[in-house]
Amino acid sequence: MPSPTPVIDLHAHSSVSDGTESPSELVGAARAAGIDVLAITDHDTVGGWDEATDAARRLGLTLVRGIEVSCTFENQSVHLLAYLTDPEDPALMRELAKARDSRATRLARMVELMAADGIPITYDEVLAQVAPGATPGRPHIADALIANGTITHRDQAFESWLTDESPYYVHHYSPDPARAVELVRGAGGVPVLAHPFTRTRGEGVSDELVVELAAAGLAGLEAYHRDHGPEEVARAQALAERLDLLLTGSSDYHGTGKRNRLAENTTTPEVLEAIEAASSGVTAVVRP
Ligand code: AMP
Ligand code: FE
Ligand code: FE
Ligand code: ZN
Repeated sequence: MPSPTPVIDLHAHSSVSDGTESPSELVGAARAAGIDVLAITDHDTVGGWDEATDAARRLGLTLVRGIEVSCTFENQSVHLLAYLTDPEDPALMRELAKARDSRATRLARMVELMAADGIPITYDEVLAQVAPGATPGRPHIADALIANGTITHRDQAFESWLTDESPYYVHHYSPDPARAVELVRGAGGVPVLAHPFTRTRGEGVSDELVVELAAAGLAGLEAYHRDHGPEEVARAQALAERLDLLLTGSSDYHGTGKRNRLAENTTTPEVLEAIEAASSGVTAVVRP
């Protein structure tokens, strides 16, 4: 009998960024959901890698160590998944540290604007929601508003106060996506554009930008994601065909912070194999 196809989910967050479970809890949740291969991809940090690695070894799960790198292109936020990078690559680490520092300043400023407008929130309340060393983000503002009883789910804050169009929105530093692609390749990793055509932030990336990023070394597109409908999937498939890119699928799980469920979209073993083959090998896939 042929062995069953492994369940591979290549995009998930822990409390080291804006997920609600610690890295080991995340690995445990993946195991419980029947996942065979999980990628931990916290925003702008490798801070959860060690704990996730220990948990994966303990629980018998295969782990792909990744990062979701925040980028900005023409004032729009673009997310780049970076798999199997060297966690000590100075150029990439410097860039991530710069983004994380700027994220803290930016959250303080957003809270200041919100509080000045009468929304009951303080920066200390927000900091109380950020795990030590974690990448701070807008979801932590939402969590503080949940904690003080103003709202009951992050979604409510993201429908109004926390949108990119909100008067309280403040940008944070993040690299241009072409530069990020080069940094990830330079760190021996494999860059895949996360949910490229999501409608939750403006129009999503243009075909032209995908062409430019492919020339810079982009390896793939995250085609199968809940933010994509059939039209967006078809667009990703057409671009992948034309530019020889891989297509991944993943949940973008954030624990209870988002409605995305583990393994609701998955990646094929062939694509995972291609990602592994394209990496420098400095950071290996963790196999039990
Ligand atoms: P930031 O990185 O600080 O700009 O915040 C963006 C993050 O907010 C993304 O990584 C999403 O995971 C999260 N986010 C966006 N929309 C929602 C939503 N409706 N509910 C919960 N989290 C969201
Ligand atoms: Fe997130
Ligand atoms: Fe994202
Ligand atoms: Zn994500």
